[in-house]
Amino acid sequence: MRQTLVAGNWKLNGSLESVSELLAGITEQIPTVGATEVAVCPPFVYLQHAGQLLQDTGIALGAQDCSDQAEGAYTGEVSPAMIREFGCTYVIIGHSERRHIYGESDALVAAKFERAQEHSLIPILCVGETLEEREGGQTEAVIARQLDAVLTRSGIEGFDNAVIAYEPVWAIGTGKTATPQQAQQVHAFARDRLSRQDEGIAGGIRILYGGSMKPENAGALLQENDIDGGLIGGASLKAEDFVAIAASGT
Ligand code: PEP
Repeated sequence: MRQTLVAGNWKLNGSLESVSELLAGITEQIPTVGATEVAVCPPFVYLQHAGQLLQDTGIALGAQDCSDQAEGAYTGEVSPAMIREFGCTYVIIGHSERRHIYGESDALVAAKFERAQEHSLIPILCVGETLEEREGGQTEAVIARQLDAVLTRSGIEGFDNAVIAYEPVWAIGTGKTATPQQAQQVHAFARDRLSRQDEGIAGGIRILYGGSMKPENAGALLQENDIDGGLIGGASLKAEDFVAIAASGT
């Protein structure tokens, strides 16, 4: 049985004050969420502050991205070692906003994934198709291409200590959610792709769903066999909603 993971992606939101308020709200209510593992991913500059507030709470910390480089002349980059030093367990890699707004290629995403693991971070690898790709019948081909880039670089062993997040681009921040059946179909496809190389690793990896997940739809999504949690954007900025989603995963 895979343990459910519910991770909050705060994106480019927050201030010292709002981080404190949000985490106070989450940590107050979290004992009610039972067996679900919970993680929050604030912007880089708030990691230290958030890490201090999360001490001894059992809530994990993650970053939203990391560099593919370990150190050197890469202005503006933040390395996996730095993130790790500030107490992160997880790092989101290849979020669709990085891929589509900042032009991150499959190859760059695979390099970041590998570098994160070298520094003992658990990558949350985001994959997902655009609306155009879905309507063109390309969903599985896109997911396969995005997974294969990482498989080629890190091997199936790379997925032994990683998380996948299926995030259909058309569902992120739009209020449109994939139906549980649509999501389950893609999750099963992704797991099957990995199981061709190693059934044990494929069976154990957690595949999260992300895309307008909210308290009202989380329960039905999380009931599906291959949906092992959620990557939550908008709803992770409201303590009550985030905790309610985490509670539906148990
Ligand atoms: C996300 O940013 O990963 C996400 C799923 O956002 P939202 O929940 O707002 O759709």
